[in-house]
Order: sequence, then C-alpha cells, then structure tokens
Amino acid sequence: MALIGTGVLKGMGVTLKTFLGTYPWGRALLRVLRFPPSDGLVTVQYPDVKQQHHERFRYFPFLVYDGTPENLRCVACKICEQECPPQCIHIVMEKDAQGRPVKAHGRTLPKQFDIDMSICMSCRICVDVCPFDAIEMDNQYELSASERFEHMIFDKQKLLKSADYFQSIKPTEAAVVDQRLSAKAAKAAPSKPTEGQRPTP
Ligand code: SF4
Ligand code: SF4
Repeated sequence: MALIGTGVLKGMGVTLKTFLGTYPWGRALLRVLRFPPSDGLVTVQYPDVKQQHHERFRYFPFLVYDGTPENLRCVACKICEQECPPQCIHIVMEKDAQGRPVKAHGRTLPKQFDIDMSICMSCRICVDVCPFDAIEMDNQYELSASERFEHMIFDKQKLLKSADYFQSIKPTEAAVVDQRLSAKAAKAAPSKPTEGQRPTP
C-alpha cells in the first residue's frame, strides 16, 4: 500500500532535480550525489529564437479550403456558432434576393464568418463539432495587437487557410481528416453499374 503523500514528495523531488539541472553548479551537485543528469528548464532567447512546437499545440481556429479560397469547406451550418462556449463565432449565410441560400459546388456558403480571438479560449470545440472538417486549430500565436476590434476580430478572409497549410502544421491530424473526407466522398459517389447490370433509372 502506497504511503499517503509519497506522490507529492516524488513530484517535489522532480521539481528540485529540474531546478538543480538548470544551473551548472546544480548539475555538478547532481553528479556528486550520483543522481541521473537533468536538462533543467529549457528556455530560448525569444523572439530571436523560437521554440519548435509539438504538433498538437493549438491556439486559434481557422477555416480550411481545398485548392482555392472559393472551395472553402464551411457550409455555414452554424453548429460551431451554437456550440462555442464563449459565443465568439458569428456566421451569416449567403442568401439571394429571395432569401434562399446561395450554393457553390453544391454547398451553401458563409457570407460572413467572424471569430473574436480576444474571447476565444482555444477549447477546440468548434473543430470537434464541425461535421465537414471545415475548421481546424492553428498554431500561430504571435497575434498581439493594440486595437481589439480592428485586429482581434478575424473575418472570413483572415480566417481562410489552405488544406496544404493544415497538412504542413499538423500532418498526423490532417492525414486522419483526409482519410475521413475520402471515405465520405467515396460513399457519396454514385456507384457504377457492374457489367451486365442495367443502370437504375
Ligand atoms: S465551420 Fe463547420 S460547423 Fe461551423 S458553420 Fe462551417 S461547416 Fe458548420
Ligand atoms: S476554440 Fe472554442 S472558444 Fe474558440 S472559437 Fe472554437 S469553440 Fe469558440
């Protein structure tokens, strides 16, 4: 049976070892005490040097398009708008003069798609609820600005990024999404009649 508090002591030991490993004298002390070496705290001279982020690092969302920006995947279904906990997404569907949804490539379109990045909490719920894999998380974090409304409310143009960009920053996740989209496309494609079979009218 584990003694109460051993986990806390173990954690404090790791913290102390990391602290010591940060300094040359601390590393020397660890050597004398025959403790395994520690890398210590890793910092870089930001902004001259930038840390390489893990693929799963996420910051704010962006809208994905395939090939050219007209082929954005978003169909303005507004599910993400409804599910976003701090309600920082605002979507308006493209409609004609009669109020009917305008379609391009068989899909409805967002006329307006805004995200207030000063409110977004990077929870990723918008990504998880989107049925079209149309929104993904970016790892671009250098967005500080002095004017909130002008710089921190991202409109459709500012949110649009290509599927190639998504692949470049998150190859593992993008591969899973591509596989899912290909499977969906194959399922939606009309099946070819086999030889000798009459096509259904
Ligand atoms: S990003 Fe996805 S969930 Fe949000 S409106 Fe577009 S298609 Fe719907
Ligand atoms: S990451 Fe979370 S807070 Fe940000 S837009 Fe998506 S659902 Fe909203």
